[in-house]
Amino acid sequence: VIGNLFELEKLAVLGHGNGGTVYKVRHKGTSSIYALKVLRFHDHAAAGFRQQAAREAEIVKRVDSPYIIRCHGVFDNGRLTAGDDVITGGSDGSGGGSNLSFVMEYMEEGSLQDLLRARQRLPEKEISGVARRVLRGLRYLHGMKIVHGDIKPSNLLVNGGGEVKIADFGVSHAVECQGGGKGNAWDSSRDTFMGTCAYMSPERFDPERWDGGGGWEFAGDVWSLGVVVLECNLGRFPLIGPGQRPDWATLMCVMCFGERVEMPETASPEFRSFVGRCLEKDWRKRATVDELLDHPFLNSSNGVG
Ligand code: ATP
Ligand code: MG
Repeated sequence: VIGNLFELEKLAVLGHGNGGTVYKVRHKGTSSIYALKVLRFHDHAAAGFRQQAAREAEIVKRVDSPYIIRCHGVFDNGRLTAGDDVITGGSDGSGGGSNLSFVMEYMEEGSLQDLLRARQRLPEKEISGVARRVLRGLRYLHGMKIVHGDIKPSNLLVNGGGEVKIADFGVSHAVECQGGGKGNAWDSSRDTFMGTCAYMSPERFDPERWDGGGGWEFAGDVWSLGVVVLECNLGRFPLIGPGQRPDWATLMCVMCFGERVEMPETASPEFRSFVGRCLEKDWRKRATVDELLDHPFLNSSNGVG
């Protein structure tokens, strides 16, 4: 257990997200390596965001599953010294605002997004392994009544043993609305629609479908998984074709009025069926996590657990 951010030494920047930066850090006492995510809140950010983030941080600490990134501590306006370098939110006047830091399990291979950048596509056998682990993680979260809400390639991390784990639930909700960062950007380096919303299910954009009873929030995670799985097979963001304008209007049209999404010609029948069950537009008809865990795509001698 890490008692103080002073115990951590910054080694490298692992990446930047919407509202924060992730560092590779070493615990001075034990030499253990961790990832430290620092979310920065501007002074003008609504106080509610910070509170929500702090509340969700409490949830993060309760989560204990091999399919979900472990969080070893959350620090409120903690200061992290690394040699001469001080990472701070600015209560010392270095920029204003405040911060919230998460000490997380370090994932050596980075995110599925990094993997796709390097390899473009994955074979079905590997995709099946990814899907199985994500579904087991979702079964755990949903069992705790937690909706992830932001399943996308950059939030699925890979460790040195090739195991995929889910990162960033809840926390991302808190930063999403700050309106900064690269949230809505088109990443031309990989021709991929990066926005958090690009992986969101159609019902999330339609207030009429927000009829009570819950359920649709959980179904949203399944949709997002379907988009991710298809992206792994196709090698690009699948909902917008190469010839289409990569903007919100196109995305909305595809989601609301489009026919079935394009499948790679080489995809197996099991893969097609799996993705079809995830990308069912009506969330009531969409597959549940339990149904997908029994799907032949995961259970046909494919992949490893
Ligand atoms: P968003 O802010 O919407 O979540 P994002 O997922 O790209 O966007 P971050 O969550 O801040 O942004 O993560 C940035 C990058 O840092 C990731 O893409 C990943 O490469 C790296 N990263 C994040 N967490 C870890 C971790 N625990 N271990 C190793 N690398 C990590
Ligand atoms: Mg993330």
